[in-house]
Amino acid sequence: MVPADSQGVPLCLLTVHAHPDDEASKGAPTLARYHSEGVRTVLVCCTGGEEGDLHNPSLREPGQPFHGLTPEEEKALLRELRPQELARSAEVIGFDEVVMLGYRDSGMPDSPANSDPASFFQADFDEAVGRLVEVIRRTRPQVILTYNDDQQGYPHPDHLRVHDISAPAFERAGDPAWYPELGSPWQPSKLYYTVWSRRRLLAVHEALLALRGASPFEEAWFERPDQDHRITTQIPVSDHLWARSGALRAHATQVDPTEAFWFGLSDQELAEAYPYEDWILARSLVGEPPPGEVEDDLFAGIRVPVRQ
Ligand SMILES: [Zn+2]
Repeated sequence: MVPADSQGVPLCLLTVHAHPDDEASKGAPTLARYHSEGVRTVLVCCTGGEEGDLHNPSLREPGQPFHGLTPEEEKALLRELRPQELARSAEVIGFDEVVMLGYRDSGMPDSPANSDPASFFQADFDEAVGRLVEVIRRTRPQVILTYNDDQQGYPHPDHLRVHDISAPAFERAGDPAWYPELGSPWQPSKLYYTVWSRRRLLAVHEALLALRGASPFEEAWFERPDQDHRITTQIPVSDHLWARSGALRAHATQVDPTEAFWFGLSDQELAEAYPYEDWILARSLVGEPPPGEVEDDLFAGIRVPVRQ
């Protein structure tokens, strides 16, 4: 039976990301878990990742696709490959639908790509919110996942923008006064933020030291602002960590398969070190976990319990 809310609407989980590969590095096991339960899963990817570089040097070796290419040829090939990598990653995770919001990658902070009129960074704000509202009204998610309001650790202009459009889109999607031409209003019930989880990083760091004798997470990683007190939600994902590793590997141009940062621990070792993904409930129309308690279901308060 398809899981549904109290109105009988099938459960849908929508996640907003900036670039192809962000869906692999942030929340993939959570999405895979809900997809496997029969929840409809929608990925909104705001840009095409046009400014990305090749992060997997082995692809420049003889016989590999980037061998002998000029920097311009490399960029051109990346632009060709990234949509294919995204499609494969989405298939691994189990997205039912992938929507490209249609903006151009704005590049790293203070790079020339920031000023490209087609970039996400330069997009008209209300227009960008409207594009997301249209997707929300059509797909009717009860739960939306987006980026944190505090991104000091990685202030990429497109990542900041993902946050900035998601909160107003959550509100405006249900408001008939906004964008009447973009479909019937639909009010999502919960908005969650991704979080840089210090306790997760610490657990992974300690496991790497214990099992491999070395960890790529240096001091600077632990100097990032600690947001763990904001975590409201821990999704058990030990059976779905294959989605993270599989989706990361699908982004072959973006992820070096020998990099300990990504692959220092096997899925099994990661499950033993830290079997959760952490989230912050930022907005809820259906209640919140009591103070000091952590919920284990994004659809808590929404889902109709299935009778045995
Ligand atoms: Zn990104």
